[in-house]
Amino acid sequence: MLDEKLRAYKKKERIQRIIPAKYKEEFPFLKDVDSFALCNVQLQLEKAFKDHFRNRKQFKLPKFKKKRDKQSYTTNNTHNSIRVDFERSLLYLPKLREGVKIELHRRFEGKIKSVTISKTADGKYYASILIETENRRNKVVEPKSKACGIDLGLEHFATVTNDFGSYKIEHPKYLRKGEERLKRLQKSLSRKQKGSKNSEKARLRLARQHAYISNARNDFLHKLSKAIIDENQVVVVEDINVKGLLKSRLAKSISDSGWSKFLSYLKYKAEWYGRTFIQVDRFFPSSKLCHRCGHKNDDLALNDRTWCCPACGETHDRDVNASINLYFVGLGRPEVKPVEQALVDDRSPTGYLKSHPAAKQEAQLKKVEQSALHCGSSVRLPDLLYQSPQTGQ
Ligand SMILES: [Zn+2]
Repeated sequence: MLDEKLRAYKKKERIQRIIPAKYKEEFPFLKDVDSFALCNVQLQLEKAFKDHFRNRKQFKLPKFKKKRDKQSYTTNNTHNSIRVDFERSLLYLPKLREGVKIELHRRFEGKIKSVTISKTADGKYYASILIETENRRNKVVEPKSKACGIDLGLEHFATVTNDFGSYKIEHPKYLRKGEERLKRLQKSLSRKQKGSKNSEKARLRLARQHAYISNARNDFLHKLSKAIIDENQVVVVEDINVKGLLKSRLAKSISDSGWSKFLSYLKYKAEWYGRTFIQVDRFFPSSKLCHRCGHKNDDLALNDRTWCCPACGETHDRDVNASINLYFVGLGRPEVKPVEQALVDDRSPTGYLKSHPAAKQEAQLKKVEQSALHCGSSVRLPDLLYQSPQTGQ
């Protein structure tokens, strides 16, 4: 279908609607799959062309897929053609008489709409089942901390400050080790003769390692983002200009650390669980501001891990200081308000609209707190951290 469409496109002919059934004579294997599977391919192809004509810059012309890459097909459920036997761990698919033995990740309730079967580059098969269900909300946990600031780094994956203090999250060891192994496998593949049996074996080993790392990293990012969302009501992160950074020599380690994925997980999980996710403007100097006195240290270099504030004499760990400043943004303290532009999210930390009575009450409370802060500027940070607004003191 793609070939025919592309040929018509090149000849500048009108591209016709093509139905997959017409190829069944020429390619008998098409009879092996059910008609929904074929139909979905046709729909996807039509969408790809439509997208391209709508926006040629963003959507390139569809291409042929490599056989070695991930492959998949989607089929729809009609009259129970797709079912799952939870007791025996079997998945029933159209055109297959017997159920396929599966490793079930979780039970579900609801009506099956469709299933997508995919085969990854490392030769594993996955079935992703789309269901329609009523109780889609996960259980929401009461947050223990009012706010939290997250500074992302290269040395440590992240530095987090919340009502209970600051802590650092290391890059998982298995990821570091996995990446070393990945490099070895890449070298080994490049030494093999192209097209040889050994080269094929090396390619599969490499694909398996890639899959392992990407699964392990996703697992880590999901668990960490869920834990942070569970614990805190407001989550503040810096707006890392990932693309800009990727161009620099830091590129490799950044792309490996999965920052942008982490932020997207935090964002959608915040939405799911009714938390506020704030990304501060990328010009907000979270690293350069002294969290104690608010002095901006413009001399701070990228490789300064610790620094001493020239205004108040406090010694800072670069990452901890940055995360504290972000935490303060979360608490809505005015002395660390972003300097160049407003926050992305202008709701009050608890997610009320500004006009909400509870929000007004909160603003009042904050005013009192601020004046207290200005009077006793010798109050040290840990005291502030533990003086959580939750306790109402
Ligand atoms: Zn200072």
